[in-house]
Amino acid sequence: MTPADDPAGTGARPRVVIVGGGFAGVACARELAGTDVDVTLIDRNNYHQFQPLLYQVATAQLAPIDVGTPLRNLFRKDRNVDVKQAEVTEVDVAGRTVRTADGLSWTGDHLVLATGAQPNFYRTPGAAEHSLPLYSLIDAERLRSRIIAAFDAADRDPRLVDQGALTFVVVGGGATGVEIAGALADFVTTVVPQEYHDLDVHQARIHLVDHGTALLAPFSPEAHEYAAKVLQRDGVRLHLGTAVEEVTPAAVRLEGGTTLPTRCVIWAGGVQAADVAARCGLPRGRGGRLRVGHDLSVEGHPRVFVLGDVAAVESPDGTPYPQLGSVALQQGQWAGKTIRADLAGQPRRAFHYHDKGIMAMIGRGAAVAEMGHKRHELHGAIAFASWLGVHAWLMSGVRGRIDAFVSWGWDYFSGNRTPGLVDHPSAATIDFGEPGQVPPPRTPAPAPVAPAG
Ligand SMILES: Cc1cc2nc3c(=O)[nH]c(=O)nc-3n(C[C@H](O)[C@H](O)[C@H](O)COP(=O)(O)OP(=O)(O)OC[C@H]3O[C@@H](n4cnc5c(N)ncnc54)[C@H](O)[C@@H]3O)c2cc1C
Repeated sequence: MTPADDPAGTGARPRVVIVGGGFAGVACARELAGTDVDVTLIDRNNYHQFQPLLYQVATAQLAPIDVGTPLRNLFRKDRNVDVKQAEVTEVDVAGRTVRTADGLSWTGDHLVLATGAQPNFYRTPGAAEHSLPLYSLIDAERLRSRIIAAFDAADRDPRLVDQGALTFVVVGGGATGVEIAGALADFVTTVVPQEYHDLDVHQARIHLVDHGTALLAPFSPEAHEYAAKVLQRDGVRLHLGTAVEEVTPAAVRLEGGTTLPTRCVIWAGGVQAADVAARCGLPRGRGGRLRVGHDLSVEGHPRVFVLGDVAAVESPDGTPYPQLGSVALQQGQWAGKTIRADLAGQPRRAFHYHDKGIMAMIGRGAAVAEMGHKRHELHGAIAFASWLGVHAWLMSGVRGRIDAFVSWGWDYFSGNRTPGLVDHPSAATIDFGEPGQVPPPRTPAPAPVAPAG
């Protein structure tokens, strides 16, 4: 510790307060683990969630425990990292102090904000109220409950199919939208025929809507075409170049007049900075992200860092770095190293991103991967295998990795999924009784349906 870190000469160890236990916050805390500082890591959840695999929780491929790792467990061997479960509601940037919903406050010699992103509904009428986003573990569990409840409802009463019980609308054709649409198609063809013996699986409809003209926009034109071809082959209906005008409890209204009756709208339409960013009083860029300098600190507040999805850090080409797990992780590591350099009285260096590429899963055995900064492109089974390997490697904790591999193998070779519980009753309660529509039956519907084929 230098005198600058301890102006009062108290001899106390420097304290680093990190808000957010996602990729960036955890990476920063890991970089500081075992060093001569005290770290307080604050998150509203007591777990770190692995967002890239949320769609697999939503479609019952993985159990929530596979993608949510308790933060205390991650740092159980690091006595200098203390985890606090709390919702941060206020940030005093000048004082490097955060206050929580229950009135507590923490002050650090360094403050790190890594609060991530939240869904952006772009003021689409009804979207926030009636669609199901996929940005957190709770979102994924709620979505899984809704998907299974919709199949259960149609299985009980086939008349509900006309009210959209088996119609799923995915809004957004980026990686999240493509992944969930592909996984849903897989669920319909592999799981539903095994588990719903009375249901006509051919009545299920999956629509993907995006106002852009291509899927997976950050990828190459070949990848756009490949993703569209695979999804269409798997029965997904694409509505590209089409905006969603309104979401109601019973339908989605598209630009051009099409109305899709549905009870399950999955919002994968984009993100904005997490709420707390708006309360910092700092300059914000596109999507509400906080502008920070090349060393990841806030201008005028060199001991306040902003990292990951909530940060707008300019890349060498002048655009902000993309909101990706790999960017957040590397920024977390970089900030941790910078804090260590500060404490050792060494100079800071500008953040450098090591671009290892991008990848997205499209469906069973199908993925796209663009490897390295030169974007060497892979499609199909090789990309699929790379995707599984890279994501397992990125997961925190050996147990999660092993569980994921066992679940993937089990699912791939047997099509048998176990974690299909309806455990969020509020998301599973679907009101089919709107005025002018067929009311729900009082007794089980007698009408037979053709067996799934
Ligand atoms: C569905 C989905 C799929 C994705 N797939 C990929 C992929 O395949 N590859 C890839 O590279 N990236 C992917 N991403 C993006 C990637 O997950 C994010 O870029 C990354 O998680 C950002 O890390 P972060 O640490 O900035 O934020 P997060 O990981 O979002 O962590 C933020 C943390 O802050 C906490 N928090 C927020 N506000 C508060 C508050 N007020 N008080 C206390 N705690 C708070 C949250 O609980 C959370 O734990 C995906 C994202 C989503 C949503």
